[in-house]
Amino acid sequence: MFPTPVGATQPPPLEKVETRLFINGEFVQATGAPSYPLHNPVNGSYLLSVPSASRQDVETAYQAANRAQPGWHSLGAQVWCSLFLKLASLLRENSARLVALESMVMGKPSTAADALRTAPMIENLAGQAIVNHGESSITTSGQMGVSLLVPYGVTAAIVPWNTPILLTLAKLAPALLAGNTMIVKPSERSPLSVIMLAKLFQEAGFPPGVFNIVNGGEEVGTMLSTHPGIRKIAFTGSVETGKKVARASAESNLKNLVLELGGKNPAVIFDDADLEQAVSATEFSLVYNAGQVCMANSRILVQQGIADRFIEAFVQKFTARVPGDPFATGTVIGPLVDRRAYDSVMDYIDEARASGAKVIDARISGAGGSERRDLGRTLPRQAKRRDGSGFEDGGYFVLPTVILDLPNDTRAAKEEIFGPVVEIKTFPSSASGEETLAPELVDRLNEMANSQEYGLYASVFTRSLSTAMKMARLLEAGTVAINQSSPTILTDMPFGGFKQSGWGREFGKESIERWSLTRTVLFKLD
Ligand code: NAD
Repeated sequence: MFPTPVGATQPPPLEKVETRLFINGEFVQATGAPSYPLHNPVNGSYLLSVPSASRQDVETAYQAANRAQPGWHSLGAQVWCSLFLKLASLLRENSARLVALESMVMGKPSTAADALRTAPMIENLAGQAIVNHGESSITTSGQMGVSLLVPYGVTAAIVPWNTPILLTLAKLAPALLAGNTMIVKPSERSPLSVIMLAKLFQEAGFPPGVFNIVNGGEEVGTMLSTHPGIRKIAFTGSVETGKKVARASAESNLKNLVLELGGKNPAVIFDDADLEQAVSATEFSLVYNAGQVCMANSRILVQQGIADRFIEAFVQKFTARVPGDPFATGTVIGPLVDRRAYDSVMDYIDEARASGAKVIDARISGAGGSERRDLGRTLPRQAKRRDGSGFEDGGYFVLPTVILDLPNDTRAAKEEIFGPVVEIKTFPSSASGEETLAPELVDRLNEMANSQEYGLYASVFTRSLSTAMKMARLLEAGTVAINQSSPTILTDMPFGGFKQSGWGREFGKESIERWSLTRTVLFKLD
């Protein structure tokens, strides 16, 4: 699943970084709305400002997308397919630069090569476009029915900060391969790699107006979700924002929506699991992008018979990780994306500590050896001083943290923490010792694992096929991974949430069909 990491790269020269809007096939200046600053999460220093789109810019993008749509649709699947195959090869060629842009503003280490994961997904989708067609029926006397798959028209994507390239293309590629045009709003916290994507679209030869970018935050997102001409939006982000998008879409023109929202994902580890495999997979899930991943296994439920060994090995491995500069060779875990994220995660940790829970980081576990006793010196500090224009920080580093004995009614137990923080709980071993999943255990696991309003991703570690299958049926999650954990997904299988983790699915073989409307045509046969 994971391609060979792109090697440690240099941050790109700032003067060469594109920050403009992309409308009608050209990079254009925003007209009058304020810019927003991006900071280096390693040290809090100012990097550059990105101009935000005004209402007029959003309207210009809409008009461009609307003009381009009929021509794009009439080009047909063969042409779309060849353009996307060219784009996939450009993504591979430019992956190091795309990753560097993300590392620079998000702190995501360069080993997280999303562009390389995205290229094969696009190639698969391009092939599917050619077979995306309807059905026919001659079962009623004197009638023939034919269904046509037709595009929505102008569509939009609103993207979160944490996986910009993959999540933009998971929306953009199937939307365009169904004949729609699209306006993309990247996150105001990490827009640069998405803006660079527009250059690759230009180079691949896509016609003007089929893909447009409007930069900005909540205001620009609201302009899209309330727009009367946009017919479908794919949104990925938090539950709170997803509800706002749903309300705005309903009240404007009842847009069709895909909502890919947050998670509080359980990993369930049974006594018969391969201990090393369970530790390694669940730990990496929280290390990857410093745990700022919708499907990170932020709740681990471990069976009593294996719990002591699991917790000891997990704590040693996880708390020994030293967060560092994403551009430094060997860095596996970087800083959090920005000051807002840092403050939010530290609040959860402080509240957990105040609730009486046992909070373990390297300073408590001693992992990594005596030279790391004072991690305050090892890691850049949070300076928390004001210089008039805002905070100047020492970097947004959070130590990998394990929480034990966390009361269920705390915010940390109920909400998505979105950082390198995990709660570990135990559940009883089976009384008989033979049947790993006795009925009372099923009830207990149902209560523990399914108690949350989230339902995005779950993992199960066991050597028993029967336990794995029973859990796959029990767990209320859109994806259940057996003997592995996130960030593993298969881009040719559907992905999405149960409950408040979202509506609809992305990825998989129905991707393109989901961006099509079905029209039934009835022929009267004389
Ligand atoms: P967020 O909800 O703060 O922002 C997401 C996007 O919505 C951004 O582009 C933001 O500018 C925009 N936005 C903000 N307010 C808006 C409004 N009122 N109307 C329209 N758009 C608005 O989320 P985030 O911090 O960027 O991303 C982290 C969240 O995303 C986490 O909850 C994470 O779990 C979730 N996520 C989910 C998936 C998934 O596939 N389910 C994948 C990645 C991230």
